[in-house]
Amino acid sequence: MTLRIKKVEAYPLNIGYKPGFEFTVSYGTISQVSNIVVKITTEEDIQGLGEATPLPVFNGETQEAVMAVMKIFAPLIIGEEASNISKIHEKMDTIVGNVCAKGAVDIALYDILGKATKLPVYKLLGGAFAFDAPMHYTISIKSPEEMAEESVRRVDEGFRTLEIKVGKVKGRASVDDDVARVRAVRDAVGQGVILIVDSNIGWTVREAIAAIRRIEGLDVLVEQPVRTMEGLREVKSKVSAPIIADESCQSVDDAAKIIRTEAADIISMKITKVGGFYRAVKILSMCEAFGLGYRYDNQIQTRLAGTAALHLNMAFSRGIPSGGTQFLRHSQDFVAQGGLKIEKGVSRLDNPDSPGLGVTAKEELLGPPAVYT
Ligand SMILES: [Mg+2]
Repeated sequence: MTLRIKKVEAYPLNIGYKPGFEFTVSYGTISQVSNIVVKITTEEDIQGLGEATPLPVFNGETQEAVMAVMKIFAPLIIGEEASNISKIHEKMDTIVGNVCAKGAVDIALYDILGKATKLPVYKLLGGAFAFDAPMHYTISIKSPEEMAEESVRRVDEGFRTLEIKVGKVKGRASVDDDVARVRAVRDAVGQGVILIVDSNIGWTVREAIAAIRRIEGLDVLVEQPVRTMEGLREVKSKVSAPIIADESCQSVDDAAKIIRTEAADIISMKITKVGGFYRAVKILSMCEAFGLGYRYDNQIQTRLAGTAALHLNMAFSRGIPSGGTQFLRHSQDFVAQGGLKIEKGVSRLDNPDSPGLGVTAKEELLGPPAVYT
């Protein structure tokens, strides 16, 4: 069987957030999905879908930049065997960066490979460690009282892990305010709920050390407290709470540097930020080999990328219970059928035997395509 690629399409995908579900983090407030869906078709008319999640402040990519680089990637991909995933990555890597665009291509290729072999993607990755994946819900930066109230509601819905956003509000961080936020949430939800405090690089090293020393007795993990890897290492050396690298871990090289310099205890795995399944498997394998922990998380992504993340989560289930629920905030669901379903804070595939990612999309939500043949 050949799986020669004959067509590559890239579509902008813009979806608003439900009123009241806007997402406030240290970078500002996010109220819009501005992603790209990549569709790849083989000569046998097997189609795969992937999603790119540009977030300029996070990964330096934009929707326009992904659309532009897909014009360069498409001729490198067309004519190739869809199963030659490492070779396609090598070709795309002749342009450094553009990781989320590469991730969308990679996810679409695994979707094709699964459909061609009639296997779900998690089986291509090693098979199911588990069929259930506990998810986390992320609590936006608000007042301590509002964050505590929402945290209790999410725990009542079944979530056993919460990500508590802290850091800058209108460009300024307040350690006192952030400590109050975390205390209010812990007091409200009690023990037994995993709290991940994420400042999204919103603290200086000095602020981070001061804040973490005041909250680490509340049994928390702390994600990306400061911008640089050196800063992470310094913070980690001065506190006892486990430190998670998110913005600082966007590639295999980043993971290697974190391991070599002992800059973090845990990495955050987001399939769309590291370049798709092919890179994610390398990073998670390194984590397991070197004793670094990992958790699953999501970018601003729809249930399409969320389902891809679940396939990875199922095959690598040694991470701490987490995995993103960003799509619950969106006014429209891009997935028409299949994929990830969440019940009582736990996600599962709608049909774990569906080949590929096992999703069909609402293509009517897509913007005008760029088509390459
Ligand atoms: Mg994060």
